[in-house]
Amino acid sequence: MLDRLEWKVVTLCAAAALLAACSKPDVGEPSSAPAPPVDAGSEPVSGIDYHSYANTDDYRTTHIDLDFTVDFERKVLLGEARLHLDRLNNKNNPLVLDTRGLRIDSVRAGGDGKFVDAPFTIGEESSDLGAPLTIKMPADATTLVVRYETSPDALALQWLEPQQTAGKRHPFLYTQAQSIHARSFIPLQDTPGVRITYDATVRTPPELRAVMSADNDPEAELDGEFTFSMPQPIPPYLIALAVGDIEFRAMGELTGVYAEKEMLEAAAAEFADTEAMLEITEETFGPYRWDRYDLLILPPAFPIGGMEHPRLSFITPTVIAGDKSLVALIAHELAHSWSGNLVTNASWRDLWLNEGFTTYLTNRIMQAVYGDERYYMEMALGYADLIDELPDLDDPDEALAVDLRDRDPDEVFTSIAYEKGSLFLYELELAVGRDVFDRFLIDYFNEFAFESISTEAFLDYLESTLVADHAESVSMERVRQWIFAPGLPEAAPVPRSEAFSQIEPVRQDWLSGRIAAEDIDTSEWTYHHWKRFLDGMPRQLRRDRLEDLDQAFRLTSAPNNEIAFSWLRIAIRNGYEPAFGRLEDFLKTIGRTKFIGVLYEDMMDAGMNDMARRIFEEAGPTYHPLAAKSIDTAIREQ
Ligand SMILES: [Zn+2]
Repeated sequence: MLDRLEWKVVTLCAAAALLAACSKPDVGEPSSAPAPPVDAGSEPVSGIDYHSYANTDDYRTTHIDLDFTVDFERKVLLGEARLHLDRLNNKNNPLVLDTRGLRIDSVRAGGDGKFVDAPFTIGEESSDLGAPLTIKMPADATTLVVRYETSPDALALQWLEPQQTAGKRHPFLYTQAQSIHARSFIPLQDTPGVRITYDATVRTPPELRAVMSADNDPEAELDGEFTFSMPQPIPPYLIALAVGDIEFRAMGELTGVYAEKEMLEAAAAEFADTEAMLEITEETFGPYRWDRYDLLILPPAFPIGGMEHPRLSFITPTVIAGDKSLVALIAHELAHSWSGNLVTNASWRDLWLNEGFTTYLTNRIMQAVYGDERYYMEMALGYADLIDELPDLDDPDEALAVDLRDRDPDEVFTSIAYEKGSLFLYELELAVGRDVFDRFLIDYFNEFAFESISTEAFLDYLESTLVADHAESVSMERVRQWIFAPGLPEAAPVPRSEAFSQIEPVRQDWLSGRIAAEDIDTSEWTYHHWKRFLDGMPRQLRRDRLEDLDQAFRLTSAPNNEIAFSWLRIAIRNGYEPAFGRLEDFLKTIGRTKFIGVLYEDMMDAGMNDMARRIFEEAGPTYHPLAAKSIDTAIREQ
């Protein structure tokens, strides 16, 4: 995933509710009870997922057959999930699945064509984790069929009205299951420690197309029924579905783009380098194992930058800038085909194995496709994000392996997992040399392909390979400091960009009045230069200074959303009203939380509470429910 779903994650006590929910199961006790209570001072147990009720020591799901009927009128999925299970012992304990807000109609269990009704109970719902579905299993049953209906406010599903789409004629549905929202549209063992294959049948209104994180067929007829197969085992958070007025355009032999037709042309042009990125990543880090790599461009309400669903990454349209300046997002989602989708974090504490490796790979892909200058600029911007965020984080949350017990797992999506994780790998690269480190990464991806691993499993592997072979340049003591200590180790590498070192004097010259804005040569500037130039401005600027900038560079109407965002932050801080029309338009047409959460907060800080509330009242219903909730909370708190 790139950037967060929620603006500020609302922390809710999970474990207490979880235990209360499971205290009196009337269908027997599973042998591996859900997450144990948290003792103050204790350490989380490696490999344990504290965010799932599933008793994965008794049963493991290997495959799921899904059947969805998409009801846009009622905003629900009518679902059937057929779970194929491995029984790991002879205890015949009840099976516990994760659910959230599902109305369960029937549960049948059996195998070999013989099924019986299986007694079940649904525990109390915890606000973080949903509710456990506990099922009494007939002896030897290895298949379970659950019929159910989702709730209209299921957290994984966003139902868009036609006016929220580019075409404005048809509704649109998409799912976003990371981190623990798959349980709101499928009853399952919702932990990244379990890997499943899946097949699906999706029934839609006949004019719409369904696509999934599976073997999409762009030629599939629009007849209201689509079938899919995902033959490689994936963690449940990668199950994804979208339904809308979607068309397809090939970009290369193995790559293509799905989008509403209004965005298709621009998206295919913007992301035309995707095939080159794929080829280069294979050359450097080993084979791509998912057959095709396509992109789905979502409507602007999509709350995050991108989501790495295998074979079909979901992408925000806000990165279509016309000049490929924001395509690092594509490199990021593609890189997840190695780090994250192929080798997965066993629990959310281990997310850095997923996002840190991906951020490192993203930089490498950008360097290979676009050259050194871009590479160093992207790295320097990422580093600046990290340094910016560090003061806002509590010490324990600055470790790469974060203790998330009793917490919403989405709290782990900070720049620690991404940028500190990447910087750690960059240090390893500098220590042993790029050739050696690349060889290590290829071996690592091969060793753990299609597995979910813990931080400790990674450390064991690192110690027995790279550290054993290069003890003179890498020590486990230093590695453990990176992983378990707050902040950055002493003398950690600092990515520097030559191009950026030229920005600072230009800004100073302009600030001191030695040059006017129109005299600044920006002809070679990309978004990266602009971001550095604008984000480095002093907090307060005089009105005539703002006018000088705006007149010279038309920043209020900047087509690049990242540049517009940086400019709008300056405008809010300084009460620059000529930009407020764009600000309102921006907040009413874009749902990407990374932008809108910050802009609302800036408005509240600047005393623009009335305007913020007025815009939110109108735009809030068009945002993703989790994004809307977190912004609503932030606005109310002030
Ligand atoms: Zn990511």
